[in-house]
Amino acid sequence: MQVSVLGAGTMGHGIAQVSAMAGHEVTMRDIEMEYVRNGMDAIEENLQGGVERDKVTQAELSATLDRISGTTSLEEAVADADLVVEAVPEDMELKRETVSDVETLVGEETIIASNTSSLSVTEIMSALDSPERGIGLHFFNPVHIMGLVEVVVAEQTDESTLAFASEFVEGLDKTAVEVGDSPGFASSRLGVALGVEAMRMVQEGVASPHDIDDAMELGYNHPVGPIELGDVVGLDVRLGILEYLREELGERFRPPQILKRKVRAGKLGKKTGEGFYVWEDGEIVGVSEDVMGR
Ligand code: NAD
Repeated sequence: MQVSVLGAGTMGHGIAQVSAMAGHEVTMRDIEMEYVRNGMDAIEENLQGGVERDKVTQAELSATLDRISGTTSLEEAVADADLVVEAVPEDMELKRETVSDVETLVGEETIIASNTSSLSVTEIMSALDSPERGIGLHFFNPVHIMGLVEVVVAEQTDESTLAFASEFVEGLDKTAVEVGDSPGFASSRLGVALGVEAMRMVQEGVASPHDIDDAMELGYNHPVGPIELGDVVGLDVRLGILEYLREELGERFRPPQILKRKVRAGKLGKKTGEGFYVWEDGEIVGVSEDVMGR
């Protein structure tokens, strides 16, 4: 198949990589050649890592890279595509404009997918003349490692689009879960619900961040505890999602004060060196002083 990925950032390059590894011909488009090159470099680095860990052979590495071409031209990127996956920034207008532009350049059969993590796929795809060809394909970061893709069925998505998307995901050797187009889909809604309750527990002094994370890691076999995960994702990102889910789903998603305080203070987690934990060189080295733990 010919797969076109729009955006060569964190998600775009990952989607391009796994598509090419599955044997598809891939074009990856970004707005500047520099971003396209960065995406290509990141793919090569990932594959090289795979070779070092004996997960990928040198021949697979070369064949995968040969199947990916980069461009800044939207027309060139989508010309012969069977599937277009947009992974441009999380902005409703940009996404609507992107899919609408794509539709003018592709054939009638082309499926158009969005990798949005929180926006309404129904609203994005309503920018299409034929919205039944639109669907959500929510990949997880890092794409080449994570085994799940949420297939988000919009109001207008038809059966053949859904079947096509599910088959594509299976071909990537990933598991597709089918979810309706509702805020936070399945994964973010549940993940955020756990994270917000954990933050409230820290705020109330019920347990320390370490103890809460241990409880989930050792008691429930979660690979990462909810407080640490919030720091890794970014507390600003968590707050944004919570505000959106509160608006859409109600008060149970109300952001706790402790989270708002952290974001106002610029303590955004791993990326700024402090969130609920203190971070150095990507590792936790302590607990933030203003966390009222026990
Ligand atoms: P990113 O900022 O790393 O990459 C976005 C890229 O899109 C940038 O390189 C940007 O230059 C490019 N771009 C902007 N306008 C464009 C256009 N018109 N055409 C092509 N490229 C364009 O962002 P990201 O983290 O890869 O996120 C992309 C999408 O994936 C968002 O919708 C986000 O919500 C979703 N998502 C992100 C994650 C994550 O963990 N980062 C996980 C799941 C889904």
